[in-house]
Amino acid sequence: MVQARTLEVLQTIGLAEPFLERGTIAAGAQIYVDGRAAGGFSFENVGHPDTPYPLVLVLPQSDVEAILIEHLGARGIDVERGVTATGLDQDAAGVTLRVTDGPGAEHALRSRYLIGADGAHCIVRKALGLAFAGAAYAQTFLLADCSLEGDLADGPLSIFFHREHFALWFPMKGERRGRVITTSRQAVTDPSIAGQGSSPATLAEVEASFRAAASRDLRLTDAVWLSRYRVHHRGVDRYGVGRAFVAGDAAHIHSPAGGQGMNTGLQDAFNLVWKLVASLRCEAPEALLASYDAERRPVGETVLAATDRAFSVVTSSSGWVAAARKVLLPVLGATIGRSGRLRSRAFHFLSELGIRYEPGAAVQDEAGSGPSCAGGPAPGRRAPDARISRTESVFDLLAGYRFHLVAFSRNPLSGAAIERLADELEAVAAASGHAMGAHLVAHSLVGRHPRAIQVENDTLLSTYGVTAAVPEALYLVRPDGHVAWRGPSLDLTGCRAFMAERFGGRAGP
Ligand SMILES: Cc1cc2nc3c(=O)[nH]c(=O)nc-3n(C[C@H](O)[C@H](O)[C@H](O)COP(=O)(O)OP(=O)(O)OC[C@H]3O[C@@H](n4cnc5c(N)ncnc54)[C@H](O)[C@@H]3O)c2cc1C
Repeated sequence: MVQARTLEVLQTIGLAEPFLERGTIAAGAQIYVDGRAAGGFSFENVGHPDTPYPLVLVLPQSDVEAILIEHLGARGIDVERGVTATGLDQDAAGVTLRVTDGPGAEHALRSRYLIGADGAHCIVRKALGLAFAGAAYAQTFLLADCSLEGDLADGPLSIFFHREHFALWFPMKGERRGRVITTSRQAVTDPSIAGQGSSPATLAEVEASFRAAASRDLRLTDAVWLSRYRVHHRGVDRYGVGRAFVAGDAAHIHSPAGGQGMNTGLQDAFNLVWKLVASLRCEAPEALLASYDAERRPVGETVLAATDRAFSVVTSSSGWVAAARKVLLPVLGATIGRSGRLRSRAFHFLSELGIRYEPGAAVQDEAGSGPSCAGGPAPGRRAPDARISRTESVFDLLAGYRFHLVAFSRNPLSGAAIERLADELEAVAAASGHAMGAHLVAHSLVGRHPRAIQVENDTLLSTYGVTAAVPEALYLVRPDGHVAWRGPSLDLTGCRAFMAERFGGRAGP
């Protein structure tokens, strides 16, 4: 599953469209308990007008990888296969990674920084001596991409509970095609699947587990991919040491049930890479790279704890938990179906739109006790989308993996004021040393002006806390789409000083 926040991140680099074209939008979810429909909900109207993607996208991970590799290829970057990292050393100036590309052919790769995104068995994590505390789940997961026959509604994502059995059906493109994920307890004793990872499975096994969870006469045919996974729930104690970092499954692994692992990993990378760029190009202070651990470890820990708790409850074989589950799940399904607020909260968590970073090296709230644009996104939160006009939205402005300096004015500006402010914003962006867009979003006294984006929709201003009491505001948005700094006026002094102090570069002009 590809979550809304991941699609937003992909939009900034022009990749949301290919994802949407290849994937299937899940219209909603239907819950079944002991084979009977027990409530469901639609993903429409999840109460988030601030995202262009109020949806869950079903797309096989092989397609995700294919799109990303194609994108890299179009930029002249090839992914080298058959090269295995075996160990590393680091010193004050860089990291030396030892790799082999065949028996006895070990060589060294030298770089200023290293990201270990080498999955659950991560060699980088081991070489850095990071703890990876946790344990294995009792269940294994069986997977099939296949066709479905039998009595099941087309369209929604289906979630099945029966005793300790649990299964999911994700509809994908094609006549009754989809992916089954189901749990199986039987195979855990098999030593060949003791570690985290995959091993072969048969369609008969997947079907037997699926039918046990669904308690319905459902048949699976025409499988194109079958697998069994043993999954652990574990997290690292630090997201990096010195110049080497870990991201994705190298840093956190958990139950796949909530569709969070890949999404969380992609956002680790999005959080880290601009910090590395700022360190390399602008000599940003060391604290900026340290903020990767400070910001992303709590996110990983929350995802791990939440998925683990939910998964333990839905698969527990304890008598009273099973009895409570049988009564409570239909109630929960029906309540989520009825309550827009609950649906919105659940979506907010699962979509990862709600992730917020605490003030620290890469985030600071406005200082002082004067006027405040408190109704807008606080520093650390993601900058939300909002319509500026019929044809343009905030996310159109925030395109590209770069900083954005956005000035809002509710007060109508004269042509001269627009020219002066646009000059100032552009000068700050150009002199900062960082890749940065500068945007003036304002009411205008002179109609359309080429250097200002005219506000046609006041909801935009209130979304960003620009009100009659605070008619102007300045936001610095980080390349990963989170607000770094905001101020309740168009005075650029504080913002310039903040950027130079926290992200390096120049404090000019
Ligand atoms: C059954 C199942 C269903 C899932 N469904 C979802 C879902 O719907 N949504 C979601 O967000 N997540 C889902 N996940 C989780 C998701 O698959 C993982 O979180 C994601 O693949 C992690 O990506 P990664 O790049 O960190 O690691 P990996 O995908 O494991 O990639 C690591 C890469 O590093 C390479 N590598 C490993 N060791 C070395 C080495 N020593 N040298 C060089 N290269 C090396 C590997 O070959 C591999 O290419 C699911 C997981 C499972 C098991």
